[in-house]
Amino acid sequence: MVAENLESLRQRIARSCEKVGRPLEDIKLVCVTKEAVIDDIKEVLRLGVNDLGESRVQDATLKHRVIGDKPYWHLVGHLQTNKVRDAVKIFSLIQSVDSVRLASEIDKEARRIGKVQEILIQVNTSKEKTKFGSAPDKVLEILKEISLYDDIRVKGLMTIAPEVDDPEKVRPYFRILRELRDKVNAVRSTPYALRILSMGMSKDFEVAIEEGSNMVRIGRAIFGDG
Ligand SMILES: *Cc1c(COP(=O)(O)O)cnc(C)c1O
Repeated sequence: MVAENLESLRQRIARSCEKVGRPLEDIKLVCVTKEAVIDDIKEVLRLGVNDLGESRVQDATLKHRVIGDKPYWHLVGHLQTNKVRDAVKIFSLIQSVDSVRLASEIDKEARRIGKVQEILIQVNTSKEKTKFGSAPDKVLEILKEISLYDDIRVKGLMTIAPEVDDPEKVRPYFRILRELRDKVNAVRSTPYALRILSMGMSKDFEVAIEEGSNMVRIGRAIFGDG
């Protein structure tokens, strides 16, 4: 089941790329394993997946113990400051940073263990009250402060679109994230540009790719019923 799902997902990603004339290599697939069992995770790794996403630090720590350090581990869920120490230990990319305060804790912890922690800024593009993420108009300010930290690197932006039946409805939120990234790269005077646009999940990744996503986070389409 997982193998078939992954194969058909890869074909759909390829079709979306073709549709808008983007090279397939542009798109990084992060398999979100929060609801997956260990055997299924091992299977996607056998099938060439390199990036695993988890939404809770505790679950990730348990799986990391079994699976190890070979795949890149992505934290895609909200991070509480009291979990920063465990998160910095195992995650290659923390995608859910949405405040200077959290960034400062991550920076401190990274320095303590001699690591430079890569992160994304999570942006609440739909401005839903229930969602984490920085307001789009606060991102520049947050980036300016974070760029003063030595042991953290901002690699890009992440957003979670609202759950809707028609993925066309979330296209504007993906567009907001892309435009924000381009704007930041145009005005920012730090030495590194934001490259990653992490957007698109099982229900909406095709629209996200059309809008410029280069990192899709997929769970149910691989580990669910397809
Ligand atoms: C669960 C989750 C995903 C994967 O969602 P699916 O609908 O299962 O593909 C992606 N991103 C985040 C932040 C998640 O929490």
